[in-house]
Amino acid sequence: MCPECEAVVPVPPDGEPGQVVQCGECGAELEVVTIDPPVFTLAPPEEEDWGE
Ligand SMILES: [Zn+2]
Repeated sequence: MCPECEAVVPVPPDGEPGQVVQCGECGAELEVVTIDPPVFTLAPPEEEDWGE
């Protein structure tokens, strides 16, 4: 469930904890915490952190 808008967000078949998925309702980026049960947390905003 999306913590932002409480929409049900499906976990991808190959989903795993740490993976980031997008909420289809509000577009929020959600990080998978656990698969079963599916728990999501808001992913931190993406930053330029590629060590360049
Ligand atoms: Zn949402």
